[in-house]
Amino acid sequence: MTDPGQDTGNQTHFGFRNVPEGDKARLVRGVFESVAGSYDLMNDLMSGGIHRLWKSAMIDWLAPRGAIRVLDVAGGTGDIAFRILDRAPQAEVLVADINAAMLDQGRDRFLDRGAIDQARLARLNWACMDAEKLALPDRSVDAYTIAFGIRNVTHIDAALREAHRVLKPGGRFLCLEFSTVHNPALAQAYDLYSFSILPKIGGLVAKDEDSYRYLVESIRRFPDQQTFAGMIRAAGFGNVQYRDLSFGIAALHSGWRI
Ligand code: SAM
Repeated sequence: MTDPGQDTGNQTHFGFRNVPEGDKARLVRGVFESVAGSYDLMNDLMSGGIHRLWKSAMIDWLAPRGAIRVLDVAGGTGDIAFRILDRAPQAEVLVADINAAMLDQGRDRFLDRGAIDQARLARLNWACMDAEKLALPDRSVDAYTIAFGIRNVTHIDAALREAHRVLKPGGRFLCLEFSTVHNPALAQAYDLYSFSILPKIGGLVAKDEDSYRYLVESIRRFPDQQTFAGMIRAAGFGNVQYRDLSFGIAALHSGWRI
């Protein structure tokens, strides 16, 4: 596996720019360090709150039950982890993210929720980790979730192989990510919003237009539904399926470690 911190001489994309592979993780970290403080507010503003419905759809498909052990990669401020624990209070969730600033926001948010009981607190853990090199044993989790994270990873195939490695046989992979709108009229309106309006909101609210421009560009560089499903299969997963959300603005991909 390629060390993401190492300059291999290969190029990769960072939004619409080409950068040395070894630089991408640092650049992505910079984006999320910059947006961490306003991340949750911006998510609501940019999507009109729809990201909440997409995340609920993810939890519906996962249908967590009992003492399921879930690894939520690129878990950021904990949106997916909180929803899993709300649905399955006996679950154990590890939120793994490469960025300590995002995890700190998540920890604060969790404590601010007040109503959380101590038992549930003990079932939620946070760890600074790279999706490409998970510090977890083979076959150690029942489910692997990743929401709006995988497009930021330098080597997506390496992250998918890691997901497969840490899942127990019979374990579930579930990914929520922006995807491709196939309806041409809708795609045009969505492009207008994404490139002209969204970075401006980022500039006004988060005081960081560039980071929000990167986020939009990274969405457009991400493979479409079918291509990504093929990558999941290539990493060894079986019964791979996907569902479009909001006409393909986002998609859920599911796979199983057979
Ligand atoms: N999952 C959360 C959600 O849905 O609200 C956060 C998503 S946020 C758009 C993307 C997250 O991916 C950031 O917190 C970022 O730090 C994390 N990330 C980017 N590259 C990563 C990597 N290689 N390994 C782990 N996390 C990564």
